[in-house]
Amino acid sequence: MPTARPHPLAEYADCIDPARPYTVRQIADLMEMAVSSVSGMADYGWLPGSSMKPHRRGGRVRTWTGAQLLRLARRPVRVAYDHGQYSPATLYRVGCRCKVCTRAHNADSLMRRRALAEETFPTDKRLLLVALIRGATPVAEAAAEVGVTPGRVYGRAAWDADFAQQLDEAGWALCVLGQDDPRCGTGGGYRGDSRAEVPRPGCRGTGCREWRRDRAQQERAGASS
Ligand SMILES: [Zn+2]
Ligand SMILES: [Zn+2]
Repeated sequence: MPTARPHPLAEYADCIDPARPYTVRQIADLMEMAVSSVSGMADYGWLPGSSMKPHRRGGRVRTWTGAQLLRLARRPVRVAYDHGQYSPATLYRVGCRCKVCTRAHNADSLMRRRALAEETFPTDKRLLLVALIRGATPVAEAAAEVGVTPGRVYGRAAWDADFAQQLDEAGWALCVLGQDDPRCGTGGGYRGDSRAEVPRPGCRGTGCREWRRDRAQQERAGASS
């Protein structure tokens, strides 16, 4: 039995600007959904009233006015949790929290976050950053130079194993002692020397961080044996 549910746009009504036009892509940004999910909503007939506008890169693009979207947002949709008819990501938006729909929603948000990450920190910037680090520019400075935050650099490394490896390889050049110094990759390098005549900070280059990682592993093994 179809039941009246709030329109998926309802919870975004406060963010809709009635005076501007919206494309599928911009609605996807607004709702933090994948573009394909918004197209799906349009196919289900939940976004009637679009018009075709010329796109700045050629061709035409489906467009809604903000005022239209606000009217739609106030209009409930009649929908049954029919998993044969609707996509799981869409059903999640109208309230289904079954395992399949929740998983689809999470995959959708993850894809979106990664697409955004790709836009703000694309390959050419990543290559430049890695080259700068290989030239011994500290991570924070290298990040500033390519126009991203260090958080974005480490955030990407947390899920992009290839990038993490590139970062690690380049990071050997960051050793405070110099990567050819025999103390690179030792406890002395990692801890630094604050009492020396010329104090030396603790090293966070790849070599010295690796020493720390091995050490932590040994400690854990020792504790469990
Ligand atoms: Zn479901
Ligand atoms: Zn070091």
